[in-house]
Amino acid sequence: MSFQKAVGSVDVENFTRAPDDPALSVVIPVYNEEAGLAALFDRLYPALDALNLSYEVVFINDGSRDRSAAMLAQQFERRPDVTRVILFNGNFGQHRAILAGFEHCRGDRVVTLDADLQNPPEDIKLLLDAMDLGHDCVGSIRRDRQDAAWRRWASRAMNKLRHRLTGIVMTDHGSMLRAYSRNVVQLINQCNEMNTFIPALALQFSRNPTEVVVNHEERHAGESKYSFYSLVRLNFDLVTGFSLLPLQAFSMMGIVVSLLSGLLFVVLAARRLILGPEEGGVFTLFALMFLLMGLTLFGIGLLGEYIGRIYQEVRARPRYVINAVLERKRRT
Ligand code: UDP
Ligand code: MG
Repeated sequence: MSFQKAVGSVDVENFTRAPDDPALSVVIPVYNEEAGLAALFDRLYPALDALNLSYEVVFINDGSRDRSAAMLAQQFERRPDVTRVILFNGNFGQHRAILAGFEHCRGDRVVTLDADLQNPPEDIKLLLDAMDLGHDCVGSIRRDRQDAAWRRWASRAMNKLRHRLTGIVMTDHGSMLRAYSRNVVQLINQCNEMNTFIPALALQFSRNPTEVVVNHEERHAGESKYSFYSLVRLNFDLVTGFSLLPLQAFSMMGIVVSLLSGLLFVVLAARRLILGPEEGGVFTLFALMFLLMGLTLFGIGLLGEYIGRIYQEVRARPRYVINAVLERKRRT
């Protein structure tokens, strides 16, 4: 695959690390989470201290319109040794926020976590244990998922479809508590895609991925930032970003439909010649026509999905704009 060939030239093994680089980076995107941040700090830091390793927490404020940015700055003052805060200039979305975190973090292992405490920070240990066994990409599966029933059902259906379309095996793609090795993060950092889905991208680079079961709690405070519409968008990104199959399926369908309508034409022409002029069948024709029109519209929309992506890539605007980074100067 040309995709793999292109990244094959990246020399990830030679990434040099400074002596004071931490063993673990925890990357957390934050968007309007003022209600839950205090609780997050209270649980996250003790959980990380208990791991007995050097760590850093990288928060990315994704253009929150509430007090989140100020609260993150406060937390930076409190724990400057292990906290770094990236302040975005606007709302660029969860995945771009994580990408910014990846580009700035220095840890040997990188864990992503949601700010809403839906995944308990204590479970980071489970991911690290799996990495100790040699896995370079550890996903998570939510036990007793605490989300609305329609979301559980929708994500199960989407999982099956995605597996079929992209070949990416991910039991629970909505679970963002995940761990990646430095190699995988470096490779992700080489990708310049505008809209991506990080867990899927990571799986393309991972040599030895695995999944572990983690706990899932109700959102601690605030509400989900994802509406039904943005979930649909996310899934389009996921499928069109990693597979050309939908487009190819359309050309196949085009062939089948042309063959069938060719056949229909032959039958109708034969009837005209043998039986003479006939009436009726208008509504059948209407039904057929509407079906085909629907399919055509869907096809055009699908084409638009890909063209839109191409347009975004070609424009090559910055993926995100950073206002400021709060961090302690590196010892050199
Ligand atoms: N988030 C973000 N930018 C956004 C939307 C969400 O950084 O535009 C963050 C949000 O603060 C949270 C994480 O991404 O830390 C997941 O969001 P949320 O909990 O709303 O998603 P859900 O758990 O409902 O899928
Ligand atoms: Mg959440």
